[in-house]
Amino acid sequence: MARIKAKEHVSPERSAQMALVKGKNTKPELRVRRALHAAGFRYRLHDKSLPGHPDIVFRSRKTVIFVHGCFWHRHSDPNCKLARLPKSRLEFWEPKLEANAARDRRNKSLLEEAGWKVITIWECQTTPSTIQSTITNTKKQLECITSNTDAPKTQLF
Ligand SMILES: [Zn+2]
Repeated sequence: MARIKAKEHVSPERSAQMALVKGKNTKPELRVRRALHAAGFRYRLHDKSLPGHPDIVFRSRKTVIFVHGCFWHRHSDPNCKLARLPKSRLEFWEPKLEANAARDRRNKSLLEEAGWKVITIWECQTTPSTIQSTITNTKKQLECITSNTDAPKTQLF
């Protein structure tokens, strides 16, 4: 009697699901968090009360950071090697990844409409050769927001 061999290979669909589930605390995100923490910034993580559950949240600065994997979130920079689509099963990947990118755009505009500043850091901007300038830029963006906090102390919500 023939027996069906146990599946040892994970299908692309299944591994895609698994990778999506594991989207939190990715290496690029940890690199960014570590660098910002070392620079003295304090933040919350994965705030579920905000659209898209931003990875890093600076409540007092009303700023959030998303650290996006270039492939999963379709980094549109033509120089990004990580965002290239696989050659096979394009009919599977393209709609899935396009849906991710559409969701990102929607979350970004929801946040902006609510008065949040949204910073997106891409995975390819967190490599050993790129992270330094990424963090420098991010610090600049975070710091130019603090200068506005001398404004009246009344909180709207
Ligand atoms: Zn990229």
